[in-house]
Amino acid sequence: MDCLFCKIAAGIIPSEAVYQDEQCYAFADVNPQSPVHFLVIPQEHIASTAHTSPAHAPLLGHLLVTAAQIAREKGLDKGYRIVINTGVDGGQTVDHLHVHVLGGRHHNWPPG
Ligand code: AMP
Ligand code: ZN
Repeated sequence: MDCLFCKIAAGIIPSEAVYQDEQCYAFADVNPQSPVHFLVIPQEHIASTAHTSPAHAPLLGHLLVTAAQIAREKGLDKGYRIVINTGVDGGQTVDHLHVHVLGGRHHNWPPG
């Protein structure tokens, strides 16, 4: 296992847990870009959205529904930004698919 987020999901590398179930793990981003910034990852290793197939649709849906549920529980009733960076041009730095959830401030559009 040579993947940072697989190690985090397995508890080998410590993280600040937010939520966990059989399919996904959510934890605080170590370098938050907003007052609220957490990541939701699949327990299964998937490198990026570029590595998904139609068979992943229920899992990808679960990641988004979980992100929204956690955002609700954190009181982000004014909204939030969900980001999934993919590949070099997308700015992805960790090659294990992850959903960023950023909240607690206004987020401009377009992003950088
Ligand atoms: P990305 O650039 O979309 O691949 O995002 C990777 C994110 O992972 C960044 O926001 C990092 O701050 C975050 N990150 C990297 N290492 C850790 C870690 N050990 N624990 C929590 N978040 C991390
Ligand atoms: Zn992984």
